[in-house]
Amino acid sequence: MTANGKIVVVGGGVSGLTTGVTLLEAGLPVRLVAEEIPGRTSLAAGAMWGPYLVEPWAKVREWSLTSLDVFGRLAESLETGVRMTSGVEAARDASEVPPWSELLPDFRACDPAELPDGFVSGYRFTVPLVDMPVYLDFLRRRLLELGGEIEVGVVRTLDSVDGAAAIVNCAGLGAGELADDPSVRPIRGQHVVVENPGITEFFSEDTGMSPDLMCFYPHGDTVVLGGTAIDGDGTMAEDEAAAKGIVERCAAIDSRLAEARIVGHRVGARPTRSEVRVESALREDGLPVVHNYGHGGAGVTLSWGCAREVARLVVEAASGV
Ligand SMILES: Cc1cc2nc3c(=O)[nH]c(=O)nc-3n(C[C@H](O)[C@H](O)[C@H](O)COP(=O)(O)OP(=O)(O)OC[C@H]3O[C@@H](n4cnc5c(N)ncnc54)[C@H](O)[C@@H]3O)c2cc1C
Repeated sequence: MTANGKIVVVGGGVSGLTTGVTLLEAGLPVRLVAEEIPGRTSLAAGAMWGPYLVEPWAKVREWSLTSLDVFGRLAESLETGVRMTSGVEAARDASEVPPWSELLPDFRACDPAELPDGFVSGYRFTVPLVDMPVYLDFLRRRLLELGGEIEVGVVRTLDSVDGAAAIVNCAGLGAGELADDPSVRPIRGQHVVVENPGITEFFSEDTGMSPDLMCFYPHGDTVVLGGTAIDGDGTMAEDEAAAKGIVERCAAIDSRLAEARIVGHRVGARPTRSEVRVESALREDGLPVVHNYGHGGAGVTLSWGCAREVARLVVEAASGV
């Protein structure tokens, strides 16, 4: 592909679209290229703001805080699909206060009477919940409104991109291959989407390292029920037994979910790495390449913070700093 001096963003999931929008808002020309728009994993997310299981903490904290601020503003407009929502995260044993609690002004421990049967600890807080199909479409439209270009296509290697001012690698699971980085692995996840029987608050269980998660996120007319986390599995087919288990676990917490009509299933593979990679590199011919991948189960949460760091790195690379 030939890019006519634009910055080529590879990837049309939440990372690529947010990065494209951020670069355009900074006045830089963008062509986004992706095999699938929107990326299937981003479409599958729940999605709740929460910097779960991603490192390194100092950077994750800063990126998450930036996103929290941007999502707070996006939640003022219904068309974005972002809503500030209150709810409870609870555990069946004693749980430690998460490090990100200090970022949320209304975070507090629950009174035992507020918890469902069988739970002994929990926290109540308000965070952004993101209705991903609506939100990703909002980002796509915003990118086009700002003058960005979108191309559907596969980038086989970063060397195959011609005429770009810089390349940003936001290709999720595909990013490792493009960067020759074997440390990116999938963690499969599945969600069931149901008609909303009247739920207005989220609930999630701290299930530790179990592959069977439990959460539900209301998005107006629908509720996203979760979930699963199967390490090393990048398959995308719906698993009926897993869906049945998800509905049963969620209905045990809120019985209204037992009979709620199922309107969809979503499957994705969290692009996981020991540390999120937001970093500058150079192609052999000296072209700046900025990597933005490895966001695991928190790509939505980190999206605006990482995108701003990418924009800073692109500007630095262009000015030879
Ligand atoms: C079930 C589930 C629940 C989740 N819940 C949450 C949550 O509550 N909160 C949260 O913050 N995160 C959550 N996540 C994690 C989040 O979804 C991911 O971290 C995020 O979507 C990763 O986004 P991405 O844009 O990096 O990758 P993707 O969405 O996978 O997008 C990758 C893009 O790159 C393209 N691509 C790949 N290779 C190439 C190539 N060679 N050439 C061209 N294009 C290419 C793809 O087509 C796609 O467009 C969840 C994930 C799952 C699966």
